[in-house]
Amino acid sequence: MSLSPAPLSSARLDRFARHIVLPEVGGAGQVKLAHSHVAIIGLGGIGSPALQYLAASGIGRLSLIDDDVVDVSNLQRQTIFTTRDVGYGKAVSARRWLANFDDSLVVDVSDARITPDNAESLIRGADLVLDGTDNFATRLAVADACVAAGIPLLSAAVGRFQGQVAAFAGHLPEQACYRCFVGDAFDAEDCDTCADDGMLGAMAGWAGSFAALQAVKVLLAGTAMLGDPGWGRLHILDGLAPGMRTIRIAKDASCTACAGA
Ligand SMILES: [Zn+2]
Repeated sequence: MSLSPAPLSSARLDRFARHIVLPEVGGAGQVKLAHSHVAIIGLGGIGSPALQYLAASGIGRLSLIDDDVVDVSNLQRQTIFTTRDVGYGKAVSARRWLANFDDSLVVDVSDARITPDNAESLIRGADLVLDGTDNFATRLAVADACVAAGIPLLSAAVGRFQGQVAAFAGHLPEQACYRCFVGDAFDAEDCDTCADDGMLGAMAGWAGSFAALQAVKVLLAGTAMLGDPGWGRLHILDGLAPGMRTIRIAKDASCTACAGA
């Protein structure tokens, strides 16, 4: 048995020709994406565009996790859903979109609500977790499970005219986790939802597609030139200016999730 991953079929080479021609991705990078597994938690404003670009980029396996149901007010920014999906589960609706888009991709779905008890089993086997959920309790449960399982986390959030995207690898000795960033105060609070503050729809598209770009960089690290996980760098997207700035997040030596990792 060969140790190198299986090559792409000629149909797949055609599909991803614009990636493969990029020296920064190349054939090796595309093969790596085809053998990658990303768990997307939250299929809302972030998860919808992220799913579209991750699927389009040929990520071989996607786990879609969301316990919510499509509401008519979601359609202003959650671009994979249509009027016909209103009232149906987001996870099964997302699977339907994916099946129409590219039936070669392996997809599994869950409509479970993420808790500290089930988070680790829901993300098991993933090479990367993309969290686009909208409350701190879920985000912290996901982040802690990622540290425990040794899986990198790409965290993305959006509200009003601002987005935030950061990659975390708290399981590594020198790298911060999401909890190093936000602290312990938010575990029980269900705040920061866009229903309260509003959100420009296209901001979700920018933040979600930027998260997909960063996800590809994480997955290609060590394989292709584009690979650069950028651990602990928080990118803040400002839709009003418009502009983007980046800050560094240091590991918290007393973090309850990752100190000692
Ligand atoms: Zn930490």
